[in-house]
Amino acid sequence: MKTAGEHRQVKLRSMTTQQTEQQYTSGVYAKRDLTVIRGSDATLWDDQDRAYIDCVGGQGVSTLGHANPVVAKAIADQAATLVSCPEMFYSDKRARFYQVLKNILPDGLNRIYLGNSGTEAVEAALKFARISTGRTNLIATVRGFHGRTMGALSATYEPKYREGFMPLVPGFSHVPFNNLDAMDKAINDQTAAVIIEVVQGEGGVHPATDEYLHGVRSLTADRGALLILDEVQTGFARTGRWFACMHSGVKPDLMTMGKAIAGGVPMGGVAIADTVKNLGPAVHGSTFGGNALACAAGIASIGEMQRLDVPRMAAEKGEYMRERLEELNAPVIREVRGKGLLLGVELKSKVAPFLKGLQAEGVLALPAGMNVLRFLPPAVITHEQIDRVIEATARVLAG
Ligand SMILES: *Cc1c(COP(=O)(O)O)cnc(C)c1O
Repeated sequence: MKTAGEHRQVKLRSMTTQQTEQQYTSGVYAKRDLTVIRGSDATLWDDQDRAYIDCVGGQGVSTLGHANPVVAKAIADQAATLVSCPEMFYSDKRARFYQVLKNILPDGLNRIYLGNSGTEAVEAALKFARISTGRTNLIATVRGFHGRTMGALSATYEPKYREGFMPLVPGFSHVPFNNLDAMDKAINDQTAAVIIEVVQGEGGVHPATDEYLHGVRSLTADRGALLILDEVQTGFARTGRWFACMHSGVKPDLMTMGKAIAGGVPMGGVAIADTVKNLGPAVHGSTFGGNALACAAGIASIGEMQRLDVPRMAAEKGEYMRERLEELNAPVIREVRGKGLLLGVELKSKVAPFLKGLQAEGVLALPAGMNVLRFLPPAVITHEQIDRVIEATARVLAG
């Protein structure tokens, strides 16, 4: 005789993965009809062993490609040595990670705070801006995306993410992006910081102009406000430089990082310039922040990115893919935008049916808002795979 619990276990095992997830999921995610089992470089395989070219890239996490063997070994070795080490203790892996990361950071960012996600990095940067300046107000931009926890959500623009969660954190305002006059009017002696993305990712793949970035930099500096550049999506070579601000040479006071920082292991961080003051004990903290496992993964991932010259890869393949996208002459295309391998195709209609069509063609891509098709492939994607993505896109957009 089986017990009720054993019966339940047998039943659970016989349910499909998708049925089981549907039963237990919180419901906050719109799901696609695809069960992903494994990956290698820019390819993912489903539970039928069908291959897909991955232009979702873990939503921008997998810049180095899936299942990189050096990163996999570093994670396994560290897991067998020490996983957690809270920041009250020193850690050999954290110290090494700081050095490795500092080597690729823009000049002037000399200190680092580590957390576990992009939104946590933004939370930390917002708190650092307030404690540093003694001011309360924070200026973000229309279509900006910075995360979904209460502070980060207060900086995020999209009304459908914000509605239902009021009141958010007081002191935030939003001004139009790439509009220096609006920023000039908004920044005053109450402004703690301005937070912007160098290329707006979730908001539709909108690159900031160099002129705008330089302008916001001098306005904030002149008025005693800090500049936070949110490089959670654009960092770690996505746009063809280690960090997207390096294209213009604009130096932030605080730079948020996440996504590709640790080869797919959850991690986020803030790089901090000497202009940021008052960061003493108890100002902020995190149980998992700077843990040895994530640091070991980050050391290996940055090392592999350097060995393969991933910034050059992303620049070269991004340019190739962008040119090929620009050659498409489907009437539904309004504009092709982006930098490096952060590419968007704005459509004259909703993007959702085209994403389904691409999946049927063996290509996974993302939306950015309602009508932008976004590609965030690993930089190790081959030219042949890019060609297949372009051909599939041409068929789907024509159909
Ligand atoms: C994804 C993203 C975030 C949030 O990161 P999570 O790891 O999802 O919390 C914040 N800012 C930008 C620019 C992002 O693209």
